[in-house]
Amino acid sequence: MPVRLGRPMGNIDLHLHTTASDGVMTPSEIVNYAKNKGLLAIAITDHDTIEGLEEGLLEGERIGLEVIPGIEISAEHSPGSMHLLGFFIDIHHPTLKERLGYLQRARAERNPRMAEKLNKLGIDITFDEVLKASGGGQVGRPHFAQVLIEKGYVRSFQEAFDRFLKKGASAYVEKMRFSAEESIHFINEANGVAVLAHPNTLQLNGYSELENLILRLVKKGLRGIEAYYPEHSAQEVAQYKTLAERHGLLVTGGTDYHGIEKNGLDIGVGRGEMKLPYSIVENLKAARRLSLR
Ligand code: AMP
Ligand code: ZN
Ligand code: FE
Ligand code: FE
Repeated sequence: MPVRLGRPMGNIDLHLHTTASDGVMTPSEIVNYAKNKGLLAIAITDHDTIEGLEEGLLEGERIGLEVIPGIEISAEHSPGSMHLLGFFIDIHHPTLKERLGYLQRARAERNPRMAEKLNKLGIDITFDEVLKASGGGQVGRPHFAQVLIEKGYVRSFQEAFDRFLKKGASAYVEKMRFSAEESIHFINEANGVAVLAHPNTLQLNGYSELENLILRLVKKGLRGIEAYYPEHSAQEVAQYKTLAERHGLLVTGGTDYHGIEKNGLDIGVGRGEMKLPYSIVENLKAARRLSLR
């Protein structure tokens, strides 16, 4: 029998959320959904938690879909927001667990205070209702948004964020975050590959500001840029790819599928524009092997 070599064919999605954070599908559900859509590999990248990974990895093995253990850390940054993805993290790493425990406690402190702020604004909402909306996973602002919609205070997810929940809005409460440097450091310590997520949410002024930030983060162990992302324009994608090339960084991509909101967005394809090759995963694996040597 001839042995067939060559690249596995099929597409990937390296940015997905589950009920462990603010997605609506359980890890098992999203793994099955991805498999049914014909994807070859996915990364589960919940906000500040690895609680969904064990289940997702097991289900991937069971049904034959490659699942990459990932995470999305919200780092300190202003005025925009900075998210760092970690791929191939060791989910049993003690430092990682300790750091994430810290972030869980920061959320646990923040969330009831947001409910109080909403109450002061005359909104009838209890933290219990938000907890229920979270379905038992980690609570985030999207769960507040869900309750605000259900109770008729706002018409849409975006309105909930714009009026109440986004940074600086009337019910927003800051929570403790790690700096980008610290976040990259503990991703690397857990044998992960650190990647700057969706650079367009950083709200930087133009190419050179982004390039300076990236140069600073590369020195701290940043290894890639998430260039392919549904909210990036074609020009932004091109710019991020150029930056990656210039600084020897990997390029990754994913839909940030949460299973809700964002009209017409689906896993693997975004709004139809995405078609990410498996070579992205191979490059990540090669980078990780190099750093483990
Ligand atoms: P949290 O985990 O509470 O910080 O919430 C993070 C999530 O809130 C993100 O994944 C987004 O889905 C959503 N989010 C954050 N900022 C905005 C915004 N300005 N508009 C819409 N959604 C947002
Ligand atoms: Zn989210
Ligand atoms: Fe993000
Ligand atoms: Fe995300």
